[in-house]
Amino acid sequence: MVFSIESVSKEYRSGTKVLHALDSVSLKIEDGEIFGIIGKSGAGKSTLLRCLNLLERPTSGRILLGDTDLTALSPAQLRDTRKRIGVVFQHFNLLHSRSVAANIAFPLEVAGYSRADRRARVDELIELVGLEDRRDAFPSQLSGGQKQRVGIARALAASPDVLLCDEATSALDSDTTDSILDLLADLNRRLGVTIVLITHELNVVRRICHRAALIDQGRIVDEGTLTELVADP
Ligand code: ADP
Ligand code: ADP
Repeated sequence: MVFSIESVSKEYRSGTKVLHALDSVSLKIEDGEIFGIIGKSGAGKSTLLRCLNLLERPTSGRILLGDTDLTALSPAQLRDTRKRIGVVFQHFNLLHSRSVAANIAFPLEVAGYSRADRRARVDELIELVGLEDRRDAFPSQLSGGQKQRVGIARALAASPDVLLCDEATSALDSDTTDSILDLLADLNRRLGVTIVLITHELNVVRRICHRAALIDQGRIVDEGTLTELVADP
């Protein structure tokens, strides 16, 4: 089990109003799977992602990453646990003044890898995402798809247990979307990394997810394999 999400609720208060962004969400995401979380705008996807990502704590409920309870971590444990989670962003979030190689090396610098280890690991990652000929390019010189390949390589740099993809193809055209999704499926097969994809697009889920959950108004309203989801009335 990678994530065990147990009755997670998140409330936002403004004045006397309480907004239930997540309402008793329970999900189990297994080791090695590609799991989709799909819902329209305002459904609660980003709130759930921020809870998985250790940026926010649920109001109630627990989230386990393996055996670690993410809702009960000290600041030091939080730092260690973050390394187990890689995040791929919609708008790539690359460092503009750094080359492709240096962007990918950044999390390794933060994690304290030696220069030689960083170099070897960056070479491996660049090959993995197929950017051998763009190693020294800067983000402004890359296409959207190439930028997202850098984002994926950077997210994988410290060998996380799970890759969280936050609308990772929403800024890309449909051919580029397909090639990025195929890359993610390929990385899942080759590395065995678990992937959680958050998206509002059914075709994304359809192309690569083994299982998916549909979220609406902060609740999981359906969950299963793609066949099960599509077969539902
Ligand atoms: P999605 O990512 O599916 O579009 P969100 O998780 O962003 O949905 O939002 C779910 C609900 O929670 C929405 O009604 C949104 O307005 C509300 N919400 C999200 N973040 C906050 C916040 N920081 N403060 C108050 N309300 C929020
Ligand atoms: P180094 O210690 O050699 O700078 P880093 O771990 O910082 O290595 O970076 C990994 C790879 O990224 C290296 O192969 C390096 O050549 C390249 N690199 C690092 N910083 C830059 C930069 N500012 N511009 C271009 N390439 C860089």
